[in-house]
Amino acid sequence: MGEWDSRANGIVDGHVHMRATADEASMLAILEAAGIEKMALVAIQDPQAGAGLPQALYMKARYPKTFYVFAGLNHAGRLAGKRLAVPGLVEQVESFARMGCDGIKMIEGKPTSRQRLDVPVTDPYYAEYWARVEELGTPIVWHVNDPEEFWDPARLPGWARERNWGYGPDDVQKEQLYAEVDQVLARHPGLKIIFAHFYFLSADLPRASRFLDDHPTVRFDLAPGVEMLYNLSRNPDASRGFFVEYADRIVFGTDLSSGQTVQEGRVRAGLVYRWLESDDVFRVPREADFLLGPPEDGVIRGMSLSDEVLSRIYGGNFSGLVGPEPRALDVDLAVDECQRLAAIAAALSNRPASETEAALVASRLAGK
Ligand SMILES: [Zn+2]
Repeated sequence: MGEWDSRANGIVDGHVHMRATADEASMLAILEAAGIEKMALVAIQDPQAGAGLPQALYMKARYPKTFYVFAGLNHAGRLAGKRLAVPGLVEQVESFARMGCDGIKMIEGKPTSRQRLDVPVTDPYYAEYWARVEELGTPIVWHVNDPEEFWDPARLPGWARERNWGYGPDDVQKEQLYAEVDQVLARHPGLKIIFAHFYFLSADLPRASRFLDDHPTVRFDLAPGVEMLYNLSRNPDASRGFFVEYADRIVFGTDLSSGQTVQEGRVRAGLVYRWLESDDVFRVPREADFLLGPPEDGVIRGMSLSDEVLSRIYGGNFSGLVGPEPRALDVDLAVDECQRLAAIAAALSNRPASETEAALVASRLAGK
């Protein structure tokens, strides 16, 4: 129930989360059931747990033609101070590139991330990082901001409240986060950024247009935030016009997680397919995962985009930016990286390094 299949081939999902190495089989089952050909695993790091990046590297090592990896940054050095020897951001980026990662994932710019590390992306801490990323031409998938209703307790959806995604006056504000990105892009106009979740501008298409016009090297991805589908369904003609005009700047994504059931994965991907491909008026199926909210939340109107527009959104744009095939992983370097991440986690948590996801992946890949 609730599934909807795409009519397209060669779909690349630019925004997927690999929760744990143990999810290997379920990730493959979701990919297959949802009719996805390749996935970009966006790998936010959890330095304490020694997790996030290792399980994505594992999938890339095992299925090199299928999985791209966008590696998250490790801020343990900044958070823990001098007692930890963690490579700086520039060194991290260079090492990701050497080992065969395809890009960088950033979550610095989601207010919850700012609560943990209260360092604006305009801070000197990031200065050399931005310069190096621009120079290397490394693509970034970057989550900046959140839906505006997350700052309004009266409008905060229940699924967001349960994740503590409600913000108040003491939190960083939405316009502040946008202003910081503007500054970064003014200094580094060559940055190749895919802003996740339509950059949370789905309620304001004129502003979204201006932003894309002002910054020719950036793109938006379509990973829900289900509010994006509701916002863009209010005026489907205007939305279709936007998608046709900016067909080269929009990247398909689902925000799937390997921890979901196959049905949830299919429903999540199908929701986006149906919105892009059909002219149906529909709701989120009851079988959808928790973060998509209940059917009662709103009505979605399909945009019935042409095959030509769809093929760019479903893969062409991603391939053009990141490459038609995932880069080859240097397994030895990936093992080194995982061992280093395991050691950092052990130092931060006082738990044995051997218990981390990083150590598990290092031993599996080294044993191959
Ligand atoms: Zn995500």
